[in-house]
Amino acid sequence: MKVSDLLGRKGARVSTIHPEKSLRSAMGVMIDEKIGALPVVCKDGGLVGIITERDIFRFLYHDIDAFGKKVVADIMTQELIVGIPEDDIEYIAEVMTKNRFRHVPIVEKEYLKGILSIGDIVKARTEDTKATNRYLMEYISGGPSLGIF
Ligand code: AMP
Repeated sequence: MKVSDLLGRKGARVSTIHPEKSLRSAMGVMIDEKIGALPVVCKDGGLVGIITERDIFRFLYHDIDAFGKKVVADIMTQELIVGIPEDDIEYIAEVMTKNRFRHVPIVEKEYLKGILSIGDIVKARTEDTKATNRYLMEYISGGPSLGIF
């Protein structure tokens, strides 16, 4: 399956944050939206980094007293590894495993198109496996299954 197919299923909306926003507001967006990462995007739409719950967790452990003074740009990861809509999701899964992170922003001509999490990949794989199982059951039984899975 291609990244573009998966983004199509997820819908076009992607939550982002501006680099000068406070860490507290980044946390608030992640909590409200029940997500673990935010691509960091400037006013002109340029993608400049990513901040995840792990970055905030690490920061709090080392310097909890400075929490109120820091902004997203202070702790975000700037050296991004990104995907493109034409990538295969298995390639994205490999990138996540190899680099030990759980999020990959998807870009087209330097602009953010979406973000995939490890959860999106697992969900897509599970749905694919279900569809294959159904097809095989129909094939074995010689007709359409009655949905008993
Ligand atoms: P995560 O497992 O996604 O919460 O991220 C773990 C660490 O990797 C954090 O420091 C993130 O800022 C960083 N990170 C997450 N995704 C990416 C990415 N696509 N490219 C570079 N760094 C990333």
